[in-house]
Formats: sequence, C-alpha cells, structure tokens
Amino acid sequence: MNAHTFPILRLLSDGKFHSGQTIAQQLKVSRATVWNAIKQAEILGINIFSVRGRGYKLAQAVILLDQQAILNAVGEQTTLLEVEVHDHLESTNTYLMKKISIAHAHATCVAANLQTNGRGRRGRTWQAGLGASLTFSLLWRFQCGASALSGLSLAVGVALVRALHSFGISQAQLKWPNDVLIGREKLAGILIELQGDMEGPSAAVIGIGVNLNLPESIKQQIDQPATDLASASPQTINPNELLGVLLKNLTEVLSNFERHGFAQLRDEWTKHHAYHQQAVKMLHPDGRESLGTVIDVAEDGILLVRTAQGEQRFLSGEISLRGV
Ligand code: ATP
Repeated sequence: MNAHTFPILRLLSDGKFHSGQTIAQQLKVSRATVWNAIKQAEILGINIFSVRGRGYKLAQAVILLDQQAILNAVGEQTTLLEVEVHDHLESTNTYLMKKISIAHAHATCVAANLQTNGRGRRGRTWQAGLGASLTFSLLWRFQCGASALSGLSLAVGVALVRALHSFGISQAQLKWPNDVLIGREKLAGILIELQGDMEGPSAAVIGIGVNLNLPESIKQQIDQPATDLASASPQTINPNELLGVLLKNLTEVLSNFERHGFAQLRDEWTKHHAYHQQAVKMLHPDGRESLGTVIDVAEDGILLVRTAQGEQRFLSGEISLRGV
C-alpha cells in the first residue's frame, strides 16, 4: 500500500476537486508522488475523477471511519470494547482470525475503510468499496465450546436488526441463517468463523458487511439482488454512528446469548424473519435446488422446513434460502 494514498483520500473525502499541486503542498510531497498514490487508489478499485485544470475528485463525499466517533456512539458499553480502525485490509475476518492466538482481547472490533478481499461462506466473495460499505469484525470469546454456538449467527442477526430499526430502517428483515434483507434484496451479510475446542473455551470472529451506498460498478459484481442504506433511508446514515450502535447492540445480544443461548432471542428473530411460514427455494451445496415451506426456527437455530419428503431440519450452512 502506498503510504500517501489514504492521506490523499482523506483530503478527497469531501467530494470536491483538489488540484494535484494543492495536495502535493498539503502533504509536502512531489506531484509525481501524488499521481502514483492516486494510481494506487485506482488499482484498489476506488473511482477518482481527474479533470485537467481542476484536479482530482471522488465520485461523492465519503465519511471515513474514526475510532473516537465510533466509541462515542457506543455509549456505556465502551469500557467493554476495543476498537481498531484500519484504512485498508484485505479482510477484517482474516486479520482478526490471525490475531486471535496472539494478544487480542475479548470484544475487539476491527473495522476497515476499505476491504478488498472480503469473504462470504464457502469461498464466496463479499463485495465492498470505499464509502460503499461498512465492513468490520468483532472478536468474542465464549466459555462454552463451538458445539453450543449453533444459534450464534441468528443472535447476531437480531443485533443487526435492532440497530437498523433504531436508525428508522424498519423494513430490515432477517433471512435464515444470517442475512439482512430489505424486501428481497440483501443489505448486510454476516460471516462467523470459530476457533477453539468443541467443549470450550472458544472464540468467534463475527464479520459483518453493511451496504452504505453501492455504486453500480459494485452492484454489477454481485450475483443476487442487493440494496444499500442510501436507498432505504431518506437521511444519510453516518457510518461511525452506525458502527457504534451496531457494537452496542452486539454487546448486549452476545452477553444475553452467552447466558441463555438463542432460546431467549428466538421470538424476536422469528418476528423479523423474511420467509417465516413462506414458500422458499433451497440451494444445496451440491448445486441441487428444492422447494419447501418454512415452518419455524428451533431454539438451537435449526431451520424446520416442510418439503415433499416431510419435515426436514437444516443446520446453518447446510442450505441457502431464496424466496419464491
Ligand atoms: P446464504 O443464503 O447461505 O447466506 P449467500 O448467497 O447470501 O447465501 P453468503 O456467503 O452469505 O452467501 O454471502 C456471499 C454472497 O453474498 C455472494 O456470493 C454474493 O451473492 C452476495 N454478496 C456479495 N457482496 C455483497 C454485497 N456487498 N451486498 C449484498 N450481497 C453481496
């Protein structure tokens, strides 16, 4: 990563034109250095307009992440949390998974202004861009083992919906096991990776991507309908406030989950389930597709579906749901 790229992007984050000369003066570097740093930003997928006589400009203004602003929005739970903000990471989950075994404490959040190699489940990709999405991961340590965490991804969904509803996004719904939808379009995704023994203790890295304002170029790379907060909300949602409120809700929900498991959150989850008691298409890992009707989710997060073969139970990760 070119050391000057993000300082330049900070200057450009106001969405206005900045001449190469002014940028060079402000950063005390040569114009060639500015040019090289801009090229690096473009290699990272950031769209920068360059107009002769006017300078450089981002497609639109961007609010960059700021550790203090995030902590201010967390409120009382701040003492529990550690928040790290990075300009650029390939994947916040990969970064945190590598750090688990070293020093990182319980309840550490790692957020990145730009994530360039975000992951979904089963090797799928999570598309993101500067200002286009909020991408972060939260490390949470559990005394119990991984076998007791089957409803964790659903619990995380409850925290997301609570936070989004508090910003007036009351249309946000959940799709089993862990996506957030508006209508049939995906607004946010969750990827949970576990480390530790089946019997405990264990650590979960909870990766979350929320679309803020997806440009067409990113939308085109997503092979299912996607939406963003800019389309869902009349007000601009500040990503620092959003992340703070998400962390507050995650802390509350995860503490509850530690004590009572998913059982106490199940009714709330069901209330927000996009496909509760509806007909669905199920995509199986071997490429097969089948149809069924969602009956319910169980207290351990297992999905119960009525199919032509009778009632079937699915663990998180065994199928992907699509509305029909
Ligand atoms: P499941 O229903 O099992 O969660 P999924 O297809 O949603 O399946 P995930 O692994 O949860 O899969 O998420 C990765 C998928 O999400 C990608 O394959 C792509 O279809 C979609 N996707 C990638 N980036 C975005 C994004 N920024 N916004 C919405 N959807 C995205």
